[in-house]
Amino acid sequence: MDLQGRAAVITGGGRGIGSAIARILAENGATVVVSARSVDEIESVAKSLHSEGYEAHAIPCDVADETSVQAMAQEVSRRIGDIDIVVNNAGIARSNPVKLIQLEEWERILSINATGTFLCTRAFLGSMIERGWGRVINVASIAGLRGGRYMAAYSASKHAQVGFTRALAAEIADQGVTANAICPGYVDTAMADYAVTRIVGKTDLSYEEALQSILATNPQKRLIRPEEVAHIALMLCSADAEGINGQAIVIDGGLGVH
Ligand code: NDP
Repeated sequence: MDLQGRAAVITGGGRGIGSAIARILAENGATVVVSARSVDEIESVAKSLHSEGYEAHAIPCDVADETSVQAMAQEVSRRIGDIDIVVNNAGIARSNPVKLIQLEEWERILSINATGTFLCTRAFLGSMIERGWGRVINVASIAGLRGGRYMAAYSASKHAQVGFTRALAAEIADQGVTANAICPGYVDTAMADYAVTRIVGKTDLSYEEALQSILATNPQKRLIRPEEVAHIALMLCSADAEGINGQAIVIDGGLGVH
């Protein structure tokens, strides 16, 4: 795909799904901005892409902090100019039964996963609309479409992210910009490892048994690879994806169809 001349910001780009998305967009010609809080991680991703001849910049940001998002957007504007693609991928997951969720934990999850998506979208949307082309890609989760035990805060934040995507899509439908969500099941990243470790800590299950319980949620009995999620993001950036708007694209091995 020819993304030459396009520029993309990928939040949570320092590892996992975000770094896979940064890579595939760069490999297809886009200038990429890799953003997250851990400077060493985003610099490592940007440096690796740069060493392969791609244009990649590491610009740190805490997506839950409006001032930090504004500062990142200003630095993006200074170093790169206008942004065509925003990938709201930064996220955290915590699991707890509702009665144990502290308000602080609830607000932290909502502020990163949901409010962060809003703040980063808002920071770049105006110039996309002005130029009549843009892609907003929100990495949500199947937890944004259904419930599940011990994930009330995460699920609420991901439902908010999907709801935001749908409302935004309606709002900008006639302005050349699309907004879509990608909803993966468990993906092979540090976040899935956290889920397994958490099960081990809360039950009598071994690591292997806990992993199997997670794999069992995917009818293909495997974790989704970050690159598979990245391919959907790339597809959404194509010219021919213009008609895909307001969708929540599920990639979970077929859960719920059996
Ligand atoms: P990782 O934990 O591997 O990566 C998360 C990324 O988000 C990191 O780069 C992290 O960097 C960044 N991040 C977290 N908090 C903030 C913040 N406040 N500001 C900026 N960046 C932040 O997770 P994944 O790659 O697995 O997850 C990526 C997305 O995919 C998330 O939104 C997640 O909810 C979603 N997802 C993941 C699934 C999975 O099983 N792995 C399944 C379904 C959806 P840093 O901490 O340095 O800021």
